[in-house]
Amino acid sequence: MNSNEAYDYIERISNLLRNTLRRFGASHGLQPTHLEALAYLKACNRYSDTPKGLTDYLGLTKGTVSQTLKVLESKDLIKKNIDAKDKRKIHLAISPKGKAVIKDLLPPFLFRDACAHLTSVAQLQLTRYLKQLLREMQESNTLKSFGVCRSCRFNQQKSPENYFCKLTGETLSKQETLAICREHEYQKS
Ligand code: SF4
Repeated sequence: MNSNEAYDYIERISNLLRNTLRRFGASHGLQPTHLEALAYLKACNRYSDTPKGLTDYLGLTKGTVSQTLKVLESKDLIKKNIDAKDKRKIHLAISPKGKAVIKDLLPPFLFRDACAHLTSVAQLQLTRYLKQLLREMQESNTLKSFGVCRSCRFNQQKSPENYFCKLTGETLSKQETLAICREHEYQKS
């Protein structure tokens, strides 16, 4: 494979998607980073819904993330909740209004439309190869994977409806195992 060519395509797709997000986000007074933060908070689990988790995921400075959170809070798109056990810890929750914005804008229509023109086999292959590429890049640079809980090496299924996290020692609901996590680690291959 010619990695320069693959890189060019990924770069051009990224630019197209970002420009679309910029245009449509503007109708809600939001920038692409605001939408990325909302999408993360919609997808992440209870170990990851903190300002630190969001900062790590977006790879931005603490100051930028703090500004992002101020904008989202002022528009009632997120809510800050104090941790029940540790009063110094804040959890961020996406509001119903925030979820509606994400549902409306993500993935952008031009991406959805283009995917609809691919066969279901091509869509599956594309997803598989992109996932593999992301994993390779994360692992070779010792970056956090932020993967889906169910694929984590600490996830243990006790019964069809009952899961357990060997890292935190806590029970997980079936729904929680579909969320992304900042502590996620892939199975050792
Ligand atoms: S099993 Fe892994 S991904 Fe799931 S909560 Fe535990 S550390 Fe996070």
